[in-house]
Amino acid sequence: MKKRNYRFETLQIHAGLDKDTPSGARGIAITPTAAYRFRSCDHAARLFELSEPGNIYTRLQNPTTAAYEERIAALYGGVGALAVASGMSSVLVAILSLAQQGDNIVASPYLYGGTYNLFRTTLRKLGIDCRIAPTPSADDFAPLVDERTRAIYVESMGNPTCDVPDLEALGRLAAEKDVPFVVDNTFGAAGFLCNPFDWGANIVVDSATKWINGHGTAMGGIIVDGGNYNWANGKFPQIDGPSEGYHGLNLYETFGNAAFIVKCRVDGLRDLGCCPSPFDSYLMLIGLETLSLRVKHEVESTWRLAEYCRNHPKVKNVSFVGFESHPGYENARKYYRYGSSAVFTIELKGTLESTVRFVESLRLAANMTMIGDSITVVTHPASTTHKQLGEADLKAAGVTPTLLRISLGLENVEDLIADFEQAFSCVEE
Ligand SMILES: *Cc1c(COP(=O)(O)O)cnc(C)c1O
Repeated sequence: MKKRNYRFETLQIHAGLDKDTPSGARGIAITPTAAYRFRSCDHAARLFELSEPGNIYTRLQNPTTAAYEERIAALYGGVGALAVASGMSSVLVAILSLAQQGDNIVASPYLYGGTYNLFRTTLRKLGIDCRIAPTPSADDFAPLVDERTRAIYVESMGNPTCDVPDLEALGRLAAEKDVPFVVDNTFGAAGFLCNPFDWGANIVVDSATKWINGHGTAMGGIIVDGGNYNWANGKFPQIDGPSEGYHGLNLYETFGNAAFIVKCRVDGLRDLGCCPSPFDSYLMLIGLETLSLRVKHEVESTWRLAEYCRNHPKVKNVSFVGFESHPGYENARKYYRYGSSAVFTIELKGTLESTVRFVESLRLAANMTMIGDSITVVTHPASTTHKQLGEADLKAAGVTPTLLRISLGLENVEDLIADFEQAFSCVEE
């Protein structure tokens, strides 16, 4: 069904709805199956050689997941999407589909911790060089790009500093150098707050665990293909060349501008195995139906709580991309629908001990490492995500003992402010 001309709020409910419901059921069926019966051996052979589309095995495709993928592709305006088991596996499958031993990727210094480790440690051991630019500006990326570069990689809002790179300038650089521009758009909430394809991105990855699911109930990741990259430039023999896994089939000649997302599925998922459960795909579909409403509420609450914290005598500093003092302010206004996402950080005036007391005194806001949940989350990096780092690394990451990351949920913001107020009253300074 072609529903591209509908707006986001409509597509988040309707896209993919009739994908596998010939019965007319309003709910999308959860199809809990590992395999699918073939009509004949000849039918099976055609599916296996990719000459006919169809279901073989849930590691590769599933009807519930297909409905979810269709909805995501429609929301982003991409030619196709692939659902995987986590945000990390979306990054892994996307990069391994682009880069091989001896190739390199150029990435922003402001990356999700898991992604940073994948790039700097695991990919390097596989022979893929990851070059981290000193800043996410196109000028700093340019000298690191060479003829073996297979991706320019940034996050549309960096975690946890909320830096927003100049996506348009990076998109222009990628086009000039003829390198795919890959954007982790987790903070952009499935394209509702920010859609990197509007600014020259070729591929989007997104941790569906966060705003897409929206209720903290399942892990997931998604890869979206913009269908706007010319793979016939000699750099990608695994896409435009004889495929070793499929008897010499050329994916680009066969699948045209959807060749990349097909590659991620038929080689990536087949070989790496990080497929989602159909039940989790169902949870993602339910989450998506209310995504715009949730995110809008969360962003509005973020402005209120950030403003409250800015005026609180026990807060030393508020870092919120919606405030003019934040270095990402201008880019956030340009690339994010409301000029921000639903995450900000505060630094308390006290000590490590008083910060711990503040966190443990909160009754509504949960002490977890999570963002995009319907529950408001307060994370203390010094005792959790950054606990392993030494003093120098903590300083470089901007993590002080009294730093807290806050991700707004769906509670009434007055109740959250009251919760913060009573928790502040539990700490002396
Ligand atoms: C959480 C996150 C990831 C990793 O996703 P998981 O679903 O936890 O594997 C990647 N990038 C960003 C920006 C994230 O916030």
